[in-house]
Amino acid sequence: MRERNTKQKEVILNTLMENKRHPTIQELVEEVNQKDASIGQATIYRNVKKLLKEKEIIQIPTGIENHLDYNHHDHYHIYCEKCHQIIDMKNLAPLKELQEKIEQEGVEINLGHILLTGLCAKCKGEKNEKVSL
Ligand SMILES: [Zn+2]
Ligand SMILES: [Zn+2]
Repeated sequence: MRERNTKQKEVILNTLMENKRHPTIQELVEEVNQKDASIGQATIYRNVKKLLKEKEIIQIPTGIENHLDYNHHDHYHIYCEKCHQIIDMKNLAPLKELQEKIEQEGVEINLGHILLTGLCAKCKGEKNEKVSL
């Protein structure tokens, strides 16, 4: 039984790693089931909860739905308000400065959970096009 549990967890984690688009848990369930239909939704939810608790993955709250991310190392996200995709940002320099300032107030922030909202390059381009018409 233990071996089966480990295997299921691996399939879930691998699916999340292959998917760079920060899927919601429902999207993850669909993708896992395309690979292995024998892994039920309850199992996937249970494993995701465990992975989150073990900090092997992170959850990005967009205010609409929670998205999952296998990359739990320092990076932050931009959420596109138009196409709802989540983009990874790895240049932490400006945020490190912000973090230091905030932590002078005696609180601690997790950079991995910072979510900025705006428009991705593609949607921004479309918007500009419309303006020029
Ligand atoms: Zn977009
Ligand atoms: Zn990410």
